[in-house]
Amino acid sequence: MTHPFLDLAPLSAAHFASIEDRVARLLDTRQDVVITQGEALLPLEGAIRGTAGPGTVALNVITGPYGQTFGDWLRDCGATVIDLAVPFHTAVTAAQIREAFTEHPEIDFVSLVHAEAATGNTNPVAEIGEVVREYGALFYLDAVASIGAEPVLPDTWGVDLCVIGAQKAMGGPAGVSAVSVSERAWARMSANPQAPRRSYLSLLDWKERWLDGGRKTLLHAPAQLEMLALEACVERIEAEGLATVTARHAAAAAATRAGVLALGGGLEPYVHTATDAAPVATTLRAPSGVAATELAARALETAPTLPLAAGGGGGALAKEMIRVNHYGTDATQNVVRESLTALGAALEEKGLTVDVAGAVRAAEQAWGSTE
Ligand SMILES: *Cc1c(COP(=O)(O)O)cnc(C)c1O
Repeated sequence: MTHPFLDLAPLSAAHFASIEDRVARLLDTRQDVVITQGEALLPLEGAIRGTAGPGTVALNVITGPYGQTFGDWLRDCGATVIDLAVPFHTAVTAAQIREAFTEHPEIDFVSLVHAEAATGNTNPVAEIGEVVREYGALFYLDAVASIGAEPVLPDTWGVDLCVIGAQKAMGGPAGVSAVSVSERAWARMSANPQAPRRSYLSLLDWKERWLDGGRKTLLHAPAQLEMLALEACVERIEAEGLATVTARHAAAAAATRAGVLALGGGLEPYVHTATDAAPVATTLRAPSGVAATELAARALETAPTLPLAAGGGGGALAKEMIRVNHYGTDATQNVVRESLTALGAALEEKGLTVDVAGAVRAAEQAWGSTE
């Protein structure tokens, strides 16, 4: 008896290439797209190790936990790293990026996270891209949490290395990811003696042995389960329409935010300004004296399938932050409504006064006004 996940035929090189082309269309890019067969940390690390070395002066923007990791990799490569950290309740501005360049004109690499699922903020990449281009630095972007939830346009924005993963707003599997690579980024890698070669982290291997060879022979047996799942999730996005998918995420964020503001009980949006809030997930600050972990756990007891979690990438945030991960198939009015209801009930149990009906009404109104 054949099994739906097992007994799969090998994936051909032509099929693999067609999935790459589909991902390139999703990104509206003419750059090379390399699909990486691992969770997004694989291309995120591979792209930094490929391009950075002792001569690199990197501006590393920290708006959440991933920026910290990128800085560590950059330092490990021998790069000089200038960290620009902003509070997690806000976004970085293009003006702050410009200031950093004015102070350190030698910056030749910028690493930035587009949207942060962990902290719930999103950064103005288009405006930042203009500044980065003006100074000629290489632009590295983690778009794992933004792809599918909001526009991601590496060519328009001048992004040289744009990393995406399937597991957030694309509604796909976690075991596959991709990176678009500009000609400039390839040149930087080719000239970098430290760039991984003959290594699982090597993007250059894919260029030299796959892309430059006309995509005839794969480097190793493709992970067909993940590749087929990636193809299916891109197909599903194409069927719904990318603009409709991103609109659904924007509506979920607006509705959650409006609902929480109407709910009361001391629960507040974690990101202060709505324009800085990511469409992929809404982070909330627990009322003072109430542990976020406890509140999320209580809400999940009544509604175990809701995409609620405490914390944002570990550490201190777990005590104060709740995340509503309204992405992928969870970007629905139903999920927003039930999340507000479950959180409201948990707050009420703690003796706090909430207006659940008002919250649900405000959420519905906000959802409608984004359509
Ligand atoms: C989710 C996410 C990733 C992928 O990391 P996981 O550890 O698999 O969650 C990378 N970058 C960002 C910004 C993310 O939100």
